[in-house]
Amino acid sequence: MSEELLRIAVDAPISGALTYLNGTGEEAANRGQSVLVPLGKRKARGVVLGPGKLEPNIKLKAIQARIENRPFIPEDHLSWLEWLAEYYLYPIGQVTALAFPPLDQPERKRKSHKAPVVKSVAAKPAPKLTQEQAQVVEDIGKINDFSVHLLHGVTGSGKTEVYLQLLERVIERGESGLVLVPEISLTPQLLDRFSARFGEKIAVLHSHLTEREKTEQWWAAVKGEKKILVGARSALFCPLEKIGLIILDEEHESSFKQDEKLKYHARDSAIMRAKFANCPIVLGSATPSLESWQRAKEGRYHLHRMTHRVENRALPQVEVIDLREERRARRDQTMEVPLPFWLSSHLFEMMKETFARQEQVALFLNRRGIAQTAFCGDCGHTFECPNCAISLTVHGHGHLVCHYCDYTDRLGEKCPQCQSSEVQPLGLGTELVEEDMRKLFPELSIARADRDEIHSREALEQLISDVENRKIDLLIGTQMIAKGLDFPGLTLVGLVLADVGFSLPDFRASERSFQLLTQVSGRSGRHSDDPGKVVIQSYNPDHPAILFTQSHDYQGFAEHELVTRQELNYPPYSRLAMFRIQGPTLQRLDQASELLQHRAQTLRQSRSEYEKIQVLGPAPAPLAKLRGKFRGQMLVKCPDAMVLRAFCRQLMGDSSWLPKGASAQIDVDPINML
Ligand code: ADP
Ligand code: ZN
Ligand code: ZN
Repeated sequence: MSEELLRIAVDAPISGALTYLNGTGEEAANRGQSVLVPLGKRKARGVVLGPGKLEPNIKLKAIQARIENRPFIPEDHLSWLEWLAEYYLYPIGQVTALAFPPLDQPERKRKSHKAPVVKSVAAKPAPKLTQEQAQVVEDIGKINDFSVHLLHGVTGSGKTEVYLQLLERVIERGESGLVLVPEISLTPQLLDRFSARFGEKIAVLHSHLTEREKTEQWWAAVKGEKKILVGARSALFCPLEKIGLIILDEEHESSFKQDEKLKYHARDSAIMRAKFANCPIVLGSATPSLESWQRAKEGRYHLHRMTHRVENRALPQVEVIDLREERRARRDQTMEVPLPFWLSSHLFEMMKETFARQEQVALFLNRRGIAQTAFCGDCGHTFECPNCAISLTVHGHGHLVCHYCDYTDRLGEKCPQCQSSEVQPLGLGTELVEEDMRKLFPELSIARADRDEIHSREALEQLISDVENRKIDLLIGTQMIAKGLDFPGLTLVGLVLADVGFSLPDFRASERSFQLLTQVSGRSGRHSDDPGKVVIQSYNPDHPAILFTQSHDYQGFAEHELVTRQELNYPPYSRLAMFRIQGPTLQRLDQASELLQHRAQTLRQSRSEYEKIQVLGPAPAPLAKLRGKFRGQMLVKCPDAMVLRAFCRQLMGDSSWLPKGASAQIDVDPINML
């Protein structure tokens, strides 16, 4: 083994490691050491991976220096980074670069006058655990080696308290804990609960900190000054030593998947991180992803359940309003107050009653305004692809397109189900709901939360505190406010049109809808002795996502949905990779798509194990044009993840097959299908 030559993961878009001469003496030869190397005309940073091999005909350059103000990357962390690069087909040097903070190490004794990142709050003693909580803490706490625990606990069952108690034990053993939550849940409410228990021992990382703040928090965690790191998905890259436990809350959240650059899924990556660190990991949710649920069923994960809310509070009562009947009834009678077309008289009455009791109401409409779907206003019929069981998307001139397989159909004048001529693209959004509500309830204080209205974290936090302090009577919003929030005065939740989510062009549409309906319902009546109320309005009142939400039956939903997944060979029964193609013009995109399709066909026939591979598309992406680029996509399915990756790597090759100006990217285990 020659230590004269070293393999370096250089921070540059080069897929593998580069070989350099070790010009700096013995110490630089250690795996995990950061070094500065020449790269073309510039200098780049990199991390030593191990001894290199002599490559004939290549003139090797020498490492310039060790980088002293970066910590050594521990072996388990470095192995994990190598796994990420391999699994997500991303340049190793750009993966290892993520393990460092944005700025160099802060000088000591720099006094800052800014508000602290984690504010101190009065210590609060732990409540007496419910029997279910105590059981889970005991069962998980027994195992200190690598093991994956799925904690399925209904909304309000006290999952956070379970995390806190498990973390206490980790600190007692002198180890550290890593807690990952969706960015949007990283609110002061959550941090206060951690600080009330652990005081000064908390470090925090999320995207709204300044670079200096991030750097300081990062070092405090790496040096072990802080014992618990709470963060959004990227906190996973912090090279903590002696991790004793990883917790990932709301494990079903799609925001754990990064959509650009390194397209990693924080849940799957965290499991691998725990594996390399040989520690347990807890995945928590009221609505686990079907992937995790299936693994728990197969016995690969330990399943723990909490089926009751704390203090025996009831789960909310869910009523479903059939909008088809509502329309029929409305045609036959004239109303005293003309209601907006989207509002049923029942929901209206319940809102009035709730306001009369001085309680709060929230209305949700998950209208993201991206893919336009067509829909019959009389019977609620939607148009589906016969091959893929996902919704067809409306394009200009009444064309319906499937964004997986490129199936097309025409949007006729009449509904194929009820012959009504009320077929129309869906045209309802939160803004319209707000306008109508201001007319109906001019005396109320109304606020709206969606991406158009709430731009910053501060604005969202202000809104949350206004609702908490009862300055707002009626909150209207998208999924932005569906999750994790805990408002004592909120006792009625209305879902304006549950169907919106059913018809997104995504095979997970039904699962997402169930998750959203359940999470949204879970906001109601969290602190009242009377059960909270939920009203779901829909044209498809028999949709499984609605029925199983109504009966609070996660397991029933999961079993039902898994059957469809198996029939159509979707995850968790197969693995997916998505090729995303872009071109400056439609013509270039088509050219690239054809080349890709041709390459895929040829490659499939080249090896017998590739016969298991199924290729769908290329088809236009649901967002067919984005930021001036034309977009297409091709979906690759395979039961075997290793075969799938090998196929994708070969298919992409060195990208030189792409026409000028076009580009292609691979997304392994894609979540965002738009
Ligand atoms: P989940 O995350 O499961 O929806 P939370 O952890 O937010 O639930 O807990 C819901 C509420 O119950 C919180 O206000 C929390 O402080 C409270 N709580 C948790 N455990 C207990 C307990 N054992 N006794 C009383 N209250 C509790
Ligand atoms: Zn119809
Ligand atoms: Zn299709």
